[in-house]
This record gives sequence, C-alpha cells and structure tokens, in this order.
Amino acid sequence: MNIAILSGKGGTGKTTVSTNLSYRLSKLGYNVQYFDFDVEEPNGFIFFKPKIEKKEDVDVLVPKVSSLLCGFCGECVKKCNFNALALANDKVLVFEKICHSCGLCKLVCPVGAISEEKRTIGVLEQGIVEDFPVYRGMLNIGEPMGVPVIKALKSKIKKDCINVIDCSPGSSCSVISTVQDADYCILVTEPTRFGLNDLKITVDLLKMLGRSYAVVINKSNEDDYIIEDYCKEEDISLLGKIPFSKDMAIKYSRGELLVNTDKCFKERMSDIIYEIKKELMI
Ligand code: SF4
Ligand code: SF4
Repeated sequence: MNIAILSGKGGTGKTTVSTNLSYRLSKLGYNVQYFDFDVEEPNGFIFFKPKIEKKEDVDVLVPKVSSLLCGFCGECVKKCNFNALALANDKVLVFEKICHSCGLCKLVCPVGAISEEKRTIGVLEQGIVEDFPVYRGMLNIGEPMGVPVIKALKSKIKKDCINVIDCSPGSSCSVISTVQDADYCILVTEPTRFGLNDLKITVDLLKMLGRSYAVVINKSNEDDYIIEDYCKEEDISLLGKIPFSKDMAIKYSRGELLVNTDKCFKERMSDIIYEIKKELMI
C-alpha cells in the first residue's frame, strides 16, 4: 500500500508528518518503507539520520549526433516535441537538459546518425533507521526534471509494505507522477488563506486523478475554521491537528524526530494514526 503525503505548498509540515508517521508505524509493527520523493529538496534524512547502505546514480539517455554521418536534413529537429534539438549551419545542437529521453530523434534519423549516451542527473540513497528502510532521491543541482529520479525511486517500492511517500510540494509533474501510484493521500495544510488556496488546488488534482485523500492541519490555532469549513463543504475527512508550538519548531530545527522527543506531538500523531488505520482498515 502506498500512502502519499502532500502539501499544496512548501513549509506546511509534510516532511514532519511523513517521517514521524512512517517511524511510528514501523514501531507499531507494520512493515514500512519511507521514501523521500521531494527530489529537489529531500530533507527527510535530516530527521532519520540513517546509516546509508547503498547509493546509485540515476541516468537518462540523451542523443549523440555523429557529425560524420549526419546529412543535416533537420528531420530530428522537426520531430522533437520538446525543442531539445536545433540545426545550426553544419551542426545539430542537443539541449540535454530539456531532452525527455523519448528516443524519437534516433528513430526518425534516416541515416542512423543518432546514438544515445548516458547522462547522470541525480542519485538514489538507501539507508536504514533502526529496523526500517528509508530511501531518498536527489536531483543534481541545476537539473530541471525530477521525474526520472522519482521513477527510479518507484522501482524500490514493495507491494507487501506500507510505503510512506513524502512528495514534492505543490502540484507539479513530480507530484502527479508520485500520486499516480498512491492508494491513499494525506494532505498536510495550515490554517491560513494561502494554505487553503493551495489545498484546494491539490484537492482538485486528486479529484482529477481519482485518488482517496484526507487532511491533517498542522500549525493548528484559532484559525482552523478556515480549513475545517472547507473540509465540511467538500466532505473531506480531517484526520487530526498538530498544534502550533514554539517548542516543536525548535526541536524540528534541531532535526529531532518529534515522536521521540515531544509528548504532545506524539499524542497527536497517535490520534492521526488511529484515524488512518480506521480509514484504511489496516
Ligand atoms: S530523445 Fe526525444 S526529447 Fe530528446 S532530443 Fe530526441 S526527440 Fe527530443
Ligand atoms: S535526422 Fe539524422 S541526418 Fe537529419 S539532421 Fe538529424 S541527425 Fe542529422
């Protein structure tokens, strides 16, 4: 089972929920794996401090044009849907960072002048925290496309586990790619107008993709009604609330796993887990 943790925007507490949820579930005896799919800024390991067991490069294939064979007909340039090729006098230019590795240019070249070469765009890391496995993908600095790293991470998902997936914030291609394989989504939001706006965008996305979802309010305060009213209108389950707390923020900034160091947080997380177990019948 894949549980994706999403937020309409960064900074709402998505990583706090996903790291602590996966850790607690593992302590409760579930077979759990944690995945950090937030490949542009994976920070789950700051809290887990895992022992790294394995690292693998993530490679994509990009075209390489032979200037000896190329007849400069421009067919590959015309067919590329991503404008990743250009014909400049007697040279085919390849813009590797916007190439989607679809392989079409190689297929359409009439003289076989295009081969493919590997380009490393990121890395996968696999670690262990006490007794449960954790994974993260990291996109190299300056790389624009996280989806290949996410696809590589997906290959580590096991069907007989509860896979807790910390998604990228927002509703970009990376989030869509993640959510497509999610059985259940938890939307972490905060009780502000910005939080509500971004929550609505994510809910619309999940409706479109036909996913099941529920909400957690983080930094809960007297403005919770902003989110509660929306959840009632939309008939969305509210799994629980995590209070706004300076103590928790300080512990978070020190990289502490709050279920281990904050009694109030641990109680709130237990309530949230109780609701999740009810919804998923696990
Ligand atoms: S592999 Fe696809 S995206 Fe990349 S340059 Fe060729 S046609 Fe364009
Ligand atoms: S299709 Fe082949 S021959 Fe034509 S420009 Fe591209 S690489 Fe050169």
